[in-house]
Amino acid sequence: MSNKIIKLKPGKEESLLRHHPWVFSGAIASMPSDIEEGEEVTVTDNKGNVLGVGHYQIGSITVRILEFGKDSLSDDFFERRLRSAFALRQTLGLIRPDNNCFRLVHGEGDFLPGLVVDIYGDTAVVQAHSPGMHFARRKVADALTLIPEARIRNVYYKSETTLPYKAHLDPENEYLIGSYDGNIAIENGLQFNIDWLKGQKTGFFVDQRENRALLEKFSKGRKVLNMFCYTGGFSVYAMRGGALSVDSVDSSSKAVALTDANIDLNFPGDPRHHTHDTDAFKFLTDMKKDEYDLIILDPPAFAKHRSAIKNGLIGYRKLNGKAFDKIKSGGILFTFSCSQAITKEMFRLAVFSAAAKSGRKVRILHQLSQPADHPVDISHPEGEYLKGLVLYVE
Ligand code: SAH
Repeated sequence: MSNKIIKLKPGKEESLLRHHPWVFSGAIASMPSDIEEGEEVTVTDNKGNVLGVGHYQIGSITVRILEFGKDSLSDDFFERRLRSAFALRQTLGLIRPDNNCFRLVHGEGDFLPGLVVDIYGDTAVVQAHSPGMHFARRKVADALTLIPEARIRNVYYKSETTLPYKAHLDPENEYLIGSYDGNIAIENGLQFNIDWLKGQKTGFFVDQRENRALLEKFSKGRKVLNMFCYTGGFSVYAMRGGALSVDSVDSSSKAVALTDANIDLNFPGDPRHHTHDTDAFKFLTDMKKDEYDLIILDPPAFAKHRSAIKNGLIGYRKLNGKAFDKIKSGGILFTFSCSQAITKEMFRLAVFSAAAKSGRKVRILHQLSQPADHPVDISHPEGEYLKGLVLYVE
């Protein structure tokens, strides 16, 4: 059966011809009234020329194009895309005995809008961000098993919190293939308990791998404060890097327990590490000056939407201001924003304002971003979200 057709208004094909994968509702001239949420549809220009095939969704982004220039998806579509995603991770050198934890599919960045797949050893955690990918989940799971080199034995589907609630899909988190058989993954030779069953996102922030590795190099002989520690990723690297002490702070008791477990896994009984189950702003306000000479600020997204940009920037300014007020002279600050709506220029300006207000002399040592297993499709700059600065504070 052929797909239903969505026809665009004259001139609205431009962005699709440049391979930007989103069709906005305002660009549509006509479409059948019986298209259903998540359905595969064909998009044409006003004259009926095929532009591509994608998933339909009720909302401002109405179609996410999966394949340009075709009017339907071939049976091997997911297998082809996943093979190509896997080949890229091989090229990146991420699949090694001392590293079995990486992002295999990063939505638009892997030409699979609406889909995220993270790999933890022999388990793949699949997350759908669109109804179309929810309906395709079993095809995705099956295709994952068709890449023998990936050695995936279990596929866990986790989309309870990522699908638009208005779609009423009520997805259940469940194993589509295999079952639970351990949850320890290895990142750059360090071990991590990954809680994909109850943890945030797919259970781990894979996107900070390179930044954690950089932090390790700065840690020797320093007193480290890891704010918003979640699973303690930065803390574990700081310990291996030879930090004098590491304090990890998170307001979630579950996160603090995960951090403790990960420290125990890698450095059992090591007295250098302490966790603090408390609010980050309160901790920074109450702590003494000059206590730490390496501080990490990796908060949750302060601006999840464009409407929240102004308040988000106030939040980043306030948070970084507190760190500038307290960090020891000669200290290093790793500061991040994962808010997609906030550009790196905006973030840098917020951090600059905080530095100027504190009167500290601050130099930028590194400008950080998301790692290469979170690629950005050049036609889709919206895929860029993580930014960070490494600062030297005198
Ligand atoms: N740095 C982490 C990821 C941070 S995710 C890593 O590398 O994996 C953001 C974390 O901030 C979550 O664990 C959340 O519980 C915590 N958090 C959110 N608001 C907070 C607050 N006000 N004070 C302290 N922690 C907070």
